[in-house]
Amino acid sequence: MEKKPFVTKEQIEEITKTYPTPFHIYDEKGFVDNAKKVYEAFSWNKGFREYFAVKAEPNPFIIKKLKEVGCGVDCSSYTELMIADKLGFRDDEIMYSSNETPEGEFKYCSSLGGIINLDDITMIDYVEKECGIPETISCRFNPGGIFKLSNGIMDNPGDSKYGMTYEQIIEAFKILKDKGAKKFGIHAFLASNTVTNEYYPNLARVIFNLAVDIKKQTGIAISFVNLSGGVGIPYEPGKEPNDIFKIGQGVKEVYEEILVPEGMDDVSIYTEMGRFMMGPYGALVTKAVHEKHIYKEYIGVDACAANLMRPAMYGSYHHITVLGKENEKADHVYDIVGSLCENNDKFAIDRKLPKIDMGDYIYIHDTGAHGFSMGYNYNGRLRSAELLLKEDGSVELIRRAETPADYFATFDFCDIMK
Ligand SMILES: *Cc1c(COP(=O)(O)O)cnc(C)c1O
Repeated sequence: MEKKPFVTKEQIEEITKTYPTPFHIYDEKGFVDNAKKVYEAFSWNKGFREYFAVKAEPNPFIIKKLKEVGCGVDCSSYTELMIADKLGFRDDEIMYSSNETPEGEFKYCSSLGGIINLDDITMIDYVEKECGIPETISCRFNPGGIFKLSNGIMDNPGDSKYGMTYEQIIEAFKILKDKGAKKFGIHAFLASNTVTNEYYPNLARVIFNLAVDIKKQTGIAISFVNLSGGVGIPYEPGKEPNDIFKIGQGVKEVYEEILVPEGMDDVSIYTEMGRFMMGPYGALVTKAVHEKHIYKEYIGVDACAANLMRPAMYGSYHHITVLGKENEKADHVYDIVGSLCENNDKFAIDRKLPKIDMGDYIYIHDTGAHGFSMGYNYNGRLRSAELLLKEDGSVELIRRAETPADYFATFDFCDIMK
């Protein structure tokens, strides 16, 4: 698939009269339509719910829109719970999938009625001390070994810090039942950013089989299976994106094969997608401000890794469009770089692009998930604004840019930076 910006150069020129670059901008129609499709794809399952992974894009304006479509929230920190709280999420609209959970967070989740998803068997005592054993409780499974999919994608659960072993999770359910829990769920997250329709169905097979074993060994009827996140997006052009309808259908087939014959036809399917919900519907817009010709050709832009860390952290590819030059030949080779004193602060390396002139707007695709939210303040660089391109074409500020006052706010106990 070709990658097309959801805004034009003319629109950006208009927007920058009010909001200077850099900024992240989100396509409301894009992510709302996509969220509706997710619900349609799983409409065969009566209890289906998508818990949007807040860490992917912790902006209350965005999450409010997703709530209107019916999404819950998947939180894993105190401040993420605060967003859920303020937006009025309660009870089974909140999933709390944390690990190495700091003090006070289970208690907060419990006060909102949210569902706690335990990462480890030792957390049973911990949660009991903090807020008592909740009536509804979930446990996270880690089958170990290597998780393979037929297109070569694999991940290594055996090396990951999350979840309980098979023996532990069975034991955990027995203990939780003895301690008075009434409603149970299983959660697992085995591979990240999978671009194949097979991931959820294969993961469902692993969890459904476990649900059957748990029923046989403990008498517990699992109420929900949480397939968590990991459904990916193609960051490179020319790749086929996931088809959520095929994914939903694939999970349905495994459900009918494994759960229905065991009489477990009332299990709700939950998901906790972040990337698939928001990734393609956000972009970082930045301006070419310097050029440099040494051993390579560099274009310096007014954003840096503080605004989008994925390329620096993982070497991730993010597609780039030079706005207004969509149809020009990509006959130049550039490194597109930010201002950090860190040589990994490069949005693109050896990228073929049209000739870039100073003042050109550089549109960095697919920053809607794990983009702004991974931002940091290295070198004292400030985080950008976030804008929402609404369905009617207007633009709303949904987070202002940081100012030096924000950066120095943690010295407010003294006078030195006043
Ligand atoms: C990060 C995370 C997600 C979302 O992952 P995506 O790759 O964005 O789909 C869901 N659940 C948990 C527990 C996570 O940590």
